[in-house]
Amino acid sequence: MATRRGVAILGSTGSIGTTALRVLDRQRERFRVAALTAFSNASLLAEQAALHAPSYVGLVHDELEREGWGSGSGTLVEAATREDVDIVLNAVVGAAGLDATLAALECGKRVALANKETLVMGGELVTTACARGGGEIVPVDSEHSAILQCITGKGSAEVRRVVLTASGGPFRTWSAERLERATVADALQHPTWRMGRKITVDSATLANKALEVIEAHYLFGLPYDRIEVVVHPQSVVHSFVEFVDGSVLAQLGVPSMELPVLYALTHPERLPDTGVPPFDPVEMSPLTFERVHDELFPALRLGIRAGREGGTAPAVFNAANEEAVALFLDGRIRFGDIARAIASALDELPQRSASTREALREADEQARKFVRERFRC
Ligand code: NAD
Ligand code: MG
Repeated sequence: MATRRGVAILGSTGSIGTTALRVLDRQRERFRVAALTAFSNASLLAEQAALHAPSYVGLVHDELEREGWGSGSGTLVEAATREDVDIVLNAVVGAAGLDATLAALECGKRVALANKETLVMGGELVTTACARGGGEIVPVDSEHSAILQCITGKGSAEVRRVVLTASGGPFRTWSAERLERATVADALQHPTWRMGRKITVDSATLANKALEVIEAHYLFGLPYDRIEVVVHPQSVVHSFVEFVDGSVLAQLGVPSMELPVLYALTHPERLPDTGVPPFDPVEMSPLTFERVHDELFPALRLGIRAGREGGTAPAVFNAANEEAVALFLDGRIRFGDIARAIASALDELPQRSASTREALREADEQARKFVRERFRC
């Protein structure tokens, strides 16, 4: 039997983390769970550890209690840089995953990246860490996995543009007045995907799609005017790539993260017997596409604007959004305040160069503080 590749799962108790463990359970002859980390769900983490026998298990909350807030990435970095780890699946939510991504890339490891916030806030640093350490990023996000699958084996000069699909979220057909009164329960009713709470709210505001546009910019080296978004409520076409000759490729599948998670581990190889149900186009039909309502979902354009500005603007966008989503989930602000908080943070906070870890951390902290002080009631 060939050597099994060691996988560290950061955020193993979350939606992507548990999906990954399900996928890995079916691929035991190829992969070994080498490390698991979670934030707080100690009992689920213990269950996972008993089942998969990793050589490292880390509860981030323990570290925070020992060393106070602001630490917490030590456990993730430790798991991500171990010698018996070949692939780091970063399935942590939010900026907390940045140090682990950087450390793993510096050690030359593959990072299967679900934690898109990492690449959005630290695109420059992450790209440098990749080049310096010899590591690689393979996306887990279904849209980026789709693009990767369409362009693998082709030169980047052959790509004219990419079109990311967006489900449109639960408020796709709502009026502006109704949207102002949207509750947390409304925002958590995603029509096609079951995911963690933060990304589910991001899908309702379309901030998630903004994060994904910036993610695509860094992953595929595409300028922003060659990355577009279209609403596709069925979430079956995971994205399109248009080539210079006008030909368009797309990757399709039922809305499940199992395949993108597995592909991020095996790229460019494909495995048989994945347990994915057979594709039935008739069953999937009709497949429809719509333009995005920019006025209803301003977070999308705000994020793209931040991406174009560069420097610390994407980190400010990300941190303001994370903080505003946490306040919304806590019942402290209204749904519409999320985009308003992002807009004010981008307008009022100074933008700087994002070439150091310290500059990013400062921009991140400043944006969080700004949103808390200005918007929390
Ligand atoms: P989730 O909330 O279900 O899980 C998050 C995991 O990270 C949990 O294990 C939690 O314990 C851990 N965690 C949370 N805060 C942490 C911290 N400060 N430090 C260390 N660990 C922490 O989230 P999810 O839906 O699995 O999403 C994870 C990431 O994957 C996000 O970046 C999300 O945008 C991305 N993603 C998710 C999906 C999906 O289908 N769920 C799809 C594409 C991308
Ligand atoms: Mg996605």
